[in-house]
Amino acid sequence: MKKLLRCVLALCMIATIAGCSNKPADTNISDGVYTESAKGNNGDVKVEVEVKDAKVIRVEVVEHMETAGIADVPIQSIPEAIVEHQSLKIDTIAGATNTSKAILEAAELGLMAAGFDVEAMKNKEVIEAVKSEAEDVICDTVVIGAGGAGMTTAIELKKGGQNVILVEKQAMNGGATSLAATYFVAVNTEYQKQAGLGLSIDEYIADQVSKNPDMNADNWKTLLERSEESVEWLNSLGTKINRPLSTYQVATEDGSSLGVAIVKALNAEIERLDVDMRLSTKAVELVTENDQVKGVKVESQNETYTIYADNIVIATGGFASGKEALLEYAPEWADLPSTSAAGSTGDGFELVKAVDANLAFMDVVRLNPSVHSENGVNSSLSAARAEGGIMVNLEGKRFCNDYYPDYTTLSKWMMEQEGDHVYILIDQSAMDKSKRLQGFKDQGYFIEADTIEELAEKMGVPADNLTATIEKYQLAVKTGIDEEFGRSANLTIDFTQAPYYAVSTKPGLQVTLGGIEVDSSMHVVTKAGHAINNLYAVGECAHDGLFGGAPTNENVTFGKLVAEDILNK
Ligand SMILES: Cc1cc2nc3c(=O)[nH]c(=O)nc-3n(C[C@H](O)[C@H](O)[C@H](O)COP(=O)(O)OP(=O)(O)OC[C@H]3O[C@@H](n4cnc5c(N)ncnc54)[C@H](O)[C@@H]3O)c2cc1C
Repeated sequence: MKKLLRCVLALCMIATIAGCSNKPADTNISDGVYTESAKGNNGDVKVEVEVKDAKVIRVEVVEHMETAGIADVPIQSIPEAIVEHQSLKIDTIAGATNTSKAILEAAELGLMAAGFDVEAMKNKEVIEAVKSEAEDVICDTVVIGAGGAGMTTAIELKKGGQNVILVEKQAMNGGATSLAATYFVAVNTEYQKQAGLGLSIDEYIADQVSKNPDMNADNWKTLLERSEESVEWLNSLGTKINRPLSTYQVATEDGSSLGVAIVKALNAEIERLDVDMRLSTKAVELVTENDQVKGVKVESQNETYTIYADNIVIATGGFASGKEALLEYAPEWADLPSTSAAGSTGDGFELVKAVDANLAFMDVVRLNPSVHSENGVNSSLSAARAEGGIMVNLEGKRFCNDYYPDYTTLSKWMMEQEGDHVYILIDQSAMDKSKRLQGFKDQGYFIEADTIEELAEKMGVPADNLTATIEKYQLAVKTGIDEEFGRSANLTIDFTQAPYYAVSTKPGLQVTLGGIEVDSSMHVVTKAGHAINNLYAVGECAHDGLFGGAPTNENVTFGKLVAEDILNK
């Protein structure tokens, strides 16, 4: 009884803190500030809901661990939409679904605590968190797709005095660019030279062309000669891409995500310049007249309008997440999970059918051998391999040089194994080195055990096989010679530091490498070999002859090139 009384008192105190003292007479809804949490992508999302006179007057995300850049739009727009429409039936933001759901869930709990009829608030017409503008319009240039390539092009055009419209089909911009993990390909920058990592650009290009004769050496040269300028341009906007990793790679100063840094910086510039960026606006058809491209038809919240423009830039990204496009262009890979953005569905290739554009090398892709799928989310566990992890199959045996640099070949070896996944194994020494891996561990992705036998049991593989595998690998680490599979790089984990970790992994699709054929100024080229003067393709959707050799650099350098070509007309 005493216990019950204590509970009642405690509840009263909580309610007072929450502010239930001011309850309008004709409602069960109490004024106050209510704080609730729900699980997002990376952890709890804490939301404050403020209620006054039976109205929601403020919803705010006050604490979260969601990925900066990717989560920005839902964190701002969903709370605003709840307040504006007094509704919980807000559409989630594509590409940030888990964050959106967490905000809605936490807000619902808060509103429930305040006494709202949350079922009624969910039983309304769906509200788009991002608004549309549905009228035909004329501008100088329309850029389709607000990833790295589209944003760079739009920024440079706006700075050059153009009236530019940037359309993005998702409710947030950034595309696959925001997922770019680590390195910006650049050669012979000051950062590299100072670290003793200088390399002649011609030497690098010769090496690339020797590996793939279809490479376009001229476009490589243009890109690499302007790399330093592109890195400094990004850094002037706020990125800190200044850490040389190798003769051809630079990364962010603190090792944080390259893509998030780039998108954040470009976003700030888009905002500063007040670029007309239209989110939730999907390009559905190129408008042509007498064989001339005149603009693009777009859809926004079930309404269609046309943007007429002198120049049209397609920057719609690749098609790693587009089942239909994969079946059409690269069926061999259609069943693999995608680590790319939800918007990478190959829309650009549909658009250019209207002008009979040539599509080149469409079946060439870059696979990621380290994809872990959990609750429908595909995450790249490449850090586990980068820290020296080994791979074993469901028999508990290594099956190849698991640090093989060609990911497509490595992925094919993985696909030859029994079952639908293999495991990457690391020990505590590797876990200690990587914040990213620790984050995945916190999310429960790893199987963990104090002994190899126990690990084998939890993985469901034969313990004697796994023990023998580890013993053989320990010898390879000790001698530096992997007699079984000839792995010579990153033989760093000797599996002596418990606990031991395993994470299931399978190959996934990361980047598509073919695309719309373009000339050296990124004009779209038709099947008949004619370059269309006012139609451009840039970024992952374009086949610029680099085969995705430097994706984020291609976005910036070739995006600027497109803008220069347009401004010089
Ligand atoms: C997991 C991962 C890791 C990576 N790591 C690196 C790395 O370390 N270094 C590196 O350089 N690259 C890396 N990449 C590759 C790189 O991120 C991309 O290839 C590149 O940034 C693509 O840029 P983009 O602007 O062409 O396309 P995106 O950034 O994908 O932008 C295209 C935009 O167009 C929008 N869009 C599509 N269709 C339409 C339409 N019909 N109407 C309007 N909008 C539309 C999309 O929603 C998207 O926002 C990585 C990629 C992935 C997936």
